[in-house]
Amino acid sequence: EPLARAQYRLAAHTPAQLPPDAGFEVAFAGRSNAGKSSALNALCRQNALARVSKTPGRTQQLVFFQIAPHEDRHLVDLPGYGYAKVPRELQAHWQAFVAGYFERRQALRGLVVVMDIRHPLKDYDRQMLGYAVQRALPAHVLLTKADKLSRGGAGNALQAVRRDLKAEFGAGVGVQTFSALAKQGLDEARAVVEGWLGL
Ligand code: GDP
Repeated sequence: EPLARAQYRLAAHTPAQLPPDAGFEVAFAGRSNAGKSSALNALCRQNALARVSKTPGRTQQLVFFQIAPHEDRHLVDLPGYGYAKVPRELQAHWQAFVAGYFERRQALRGLVVVMDIRHPLKDYDRQMLGYAVQRALPAHVLLTKADKLSRGGAGNALQAVRRDLKAEFGAGVGVQTFSALAKQGLDEARAVVEGWLGL
């Protein structure tokens, strides 16, 4: 259970504050309220891991969780910039920071995008997937809160998103249904993330 060993390491506000660009890391993105913190906590079997990402002042930072005992394996919680109530020039700063991170970060091995299954593929989600695909990095979409739909409804949503992703981003983007609440899809998601981390 490697992800159960995740622990908070640091939050970076500028490129200079990032940990050394070595090893393997997987980034998590999602619009606010999509269910990203709940997904991270569920994947790591922890109740409050990603709470740190939500503390005031941290919501616009890259938060690094280290997979102990490895010093160079991380989960990275990305800011959902563009939706927080911050001044425009600050938003431009986050946007440039995240874009630069995607362009240059060698340790980055894959991107997980968490979307509410009832509201998938918004502009923010497409932008993040675009960053990954431009770099030829694999991406994986968690359609979370699947417990909010019937089994058939969730299956239909999955098929529709799968079709749209393939048309727009090609074969490098996977997708699955997920629920942090109902603990659904955890093993499938963990296998993807652990594979990218080489664990
Ligand atoms: P974040 O802003 O993306 O980190 O979202 P949170 O993880 O804080 O979740 C936002 C809201 O959605 C909270 O009220 C959660 O309880 C709820 N939520 C998150 N995951 C699920 C899920 O799998 N099922 C249901 N029904 N609610 C969820």
